Amino acid sequence: MLETTVAGSLPKPSWLAEPEKLWPQWRLSGAELEQAKRDATLIWIKEQETAGIDIVSGGEQFRIHFVHGFLEQVEGIDWQKKTKMGIRANRYVVDVPTVTGPIGRKGPIHADEVRYARAQTARRLKFTLPGPMTICDTIADAHYGSRPEMAMAFARLLNDEARELAALGVDVIQFDEPAFNAFPRETVDWGIAALERAAAGLACTTAVHVCYGYGIKANIEWKRSLGAEWRQYETFFPALNASRIGQVSLECANSRVPLSLLGLLKDKDLLVGAIDVATETVETPEQVMATLQAAMEFVDPARIYPCTNCGMAPLPRTVALGKLKALGAGARLLREKLG
Ligand code: ZN
Repeated sequence: MLETTVAGSLPKPSWLAEPEKLWPQWRLSGAELEQAKRDATLIWIKEQETAGIDIVSGGEQFRIHFVHGFLEQVEGIDWQKKTKMGIRANRYVVDVPTVTGPIGRKGPIHADEVRYARAQTARRLKFTLPGPMTICDTIADAHYGSRPEMAMAFARLLNDEARELAALGVDVIQFDEPAFNAFPRETVDWGIAALERAAAGLACTTAVHVCYGYGIKANIEWKRSLGAEWRQYETFFPALNASRIGQVSLECANSRVPLSLLGLLKDKDLLVGAIDVATETVETPEQVMATLQAAMEFVDPARIYPCTNCGMAPLPRTVALGKLKALGAGARLLREKLG
């Protein structure tokens, strides 16, 4: 009970990429870069084991950004044709690449890194992929002409990739859909259908991560504008609860999400975010336990997986490590308390 896991990314060591940046530059190239990615993955797997994380991840050490790691290996995208786009409902403007033709995988995308990570640990392994709606909110479209249609095309590619990764021994495949909170209506209209297509027929556990984003300035300001109660989840939780996705990963620590909304997901396992990624202050185990106990008012503890709120990529490495240890210790405290 109360098995711990992480939402996804962990900071890259400074010998691998520029630290504390969301879009860092790699420090190395060629074979040296590939070896450094593996070394960083191994370090994080072992650090998670030591911290008491039960379902570990490679920490996304092989990709510069959670969406682009996948997109770089997809054909039909013109990386030279940059389009200025206000993403996550205009929360920030970035230059994004453009879809200019039918998309397809050039080949297996994450198989090598998964094979490597799988061989390093006996614990259950989690792997994260960007969700189809979030991909479509991070890339411009000059081909499909309809976002739902483009999302379905990406969902088919994601599903091919996810099936291969599950066959390599991944225990949990999680799709990251921060765009759900920016477009709650569209999530109900087509986002969840695309997500289910991406997860169709997977033999492993499936999860979706729906958060309020990394702890960067644009997100912190956006959160300030959302008022005393964040109720975005309320619009699409009933549809998500009716979906075939197994687990939902949520932001609970220091968030203004009314925890009563968790009651809308009564048929799902919940990855309860008990580590705030928007502050460098490391939680105490008691604080982690208090967040989990607050969630337990609405969720049976048998369905709770203590987790981080979101990816920790932009945090200093020592801070992220401290937070992992706090997560492990907080869950242990609560398990002891519950007997
Ligand atoms: Zn997140």
